Amino acid sequence: MADDATTDPALRSWVPGADDSGFPIQHLPYGTFSVAGDHPRAGVAIGDQIVDLAVAARAKLFDAVLHDPVAAFRGPDLTPFLALGPAAWQRVRAELSDLLRADSTRSRPMGDALVPQADATLHLPFAVADYVDFYSSLEHATNVGRLFRPGADPLLPNWRHLPVGYHGRAGTVVVSGTPVVRPAGQAAGPEGPVFGPSRRLDIELEVGFVVGTPSLLGRPVPPAAVREHVFGAVLVNDWSARDIQAWEYQPLGPFLGKSFATSISPWVTPLAALEPSRVDARPQEPPVLPYLRVDEPWALDLHLEIGLRSAGMAAAGTPFDVISRPDFARLYWTLPQQLAHLTVNGASLRTGDLLASGTVSGDRGDEGSLLERTLGGREPLRLSDGSERTFLADGDEVVLRGSAGGGGRPRLTLAEVTGTILPTHR
Ligand code: MN
Repeated sequence: MADDATTDPALRSWVPGADDSGFPIQHLPYGTFSVAGDHPRAGVAIGDQIVDLAVAARAKLFDAVLHDPVAAFRGPDLTPFLALGPAAWQRVRAELSDLLRADSTRSRPMGDALVPQADATLHLPFAVADYVDFYSSLEHATNVGRLFRPGADPLLPNWRHLPVGYHGRAGTVVVSGTPVVRPAGQAAGPEGPVFGPSRRLDIELEVGFVVGTPSLLGRPVPPAAVREHVFGAVLVNDWSARDIQAWEYQPLGPFLGKSFATSISPWVTPLAALEPSRVDARPQEPPVLPYLRVDEPWALDLHLEIGLRSAGMAAAGTPFDVISRPDFARLYWTLPQQLAHLTVNGASLRTGDLLASGTVSGDRGDEGSLLERTLGGREPLRLSDGSERTFLADGDEVVLRGSAGGGGRPRLTLAEVTGTILPTHR
């Protein structure tokens, strides 16, 4: 795919260690951070450092490319910058690339704006406006259909005609590292509903896309306008209580089984950094309606994995067991189609909207949820401490990892999403 100057694989940075760190100069993801209890502000990761964008703006580093750089990066998060739109995103990215490159001609290019990541606390990167979760993996929809509706056609009649989705709860989207309290709720019992802590607490490995530029109410956004509205990507863990979900979901869809917490990564990878990772999507049959047709390749070649460890493993310093490695490029419905479908009725986009892909599942052994990975709990996983898992136990820690590039290109590490399960409050 086409490179612009900022994704040129030959670029090197003067920041020590950045080139092979997963956060090389071709990446430049955005987040929100604070140091020693100071005010949260916007930053860009390079190697093991953060460019403090508020300091850089006050040092006039962006005066040539933004009308009001101090306002763009005033904090308390990325939202004011996201609202500026694609021309501003592109100019700031190009300017940062120029300031951080090994052969930069600027004198003291960063001034005092570099902060070690080790000194920083990372926060939710942007104010989540609306949160929509799709259901775009053919393998996932097929697996779940088989488990929830045994004996019936696993795909409902609408599935190949539109990207199915639901509106989630924006206010409970949390940043990676936030503990997740096991939800309590109603579930089906042998003699009517039972109430208690969920016994089938699960994960969903997803990729989320962050909207920057709003759209007008009543005006659909066509697939070709994806770059005008979507700023970047994060990893998402759509925590799910399967027992609560199975009892409540018909006829209006997921509700309390998913709204207790959704975790996202702290660094937003710009869509511009993922341009070289665009590949052809799998064929869609039957053909989609005209408003969903996409002219460019918009599958993304991202490598994803799920790691799981028990409290005992964490205490012993044992690494995560990798339990699945799904392939994001096989997703049936792509980002521009999700965007077009979400707005085809005239619903408008807001800065900070989060569009999650839905669980990303591959073949047997590479599913994106425990529900599928353990065949509904029938085939438990054995962890390296000898314990068995169908669903999550209290104290379990989950990590979602992702990367782009490799194979002659710099590897970009999508920031991890972690979360530890705490017991239900009594
Ligand atoms: Mn989901």
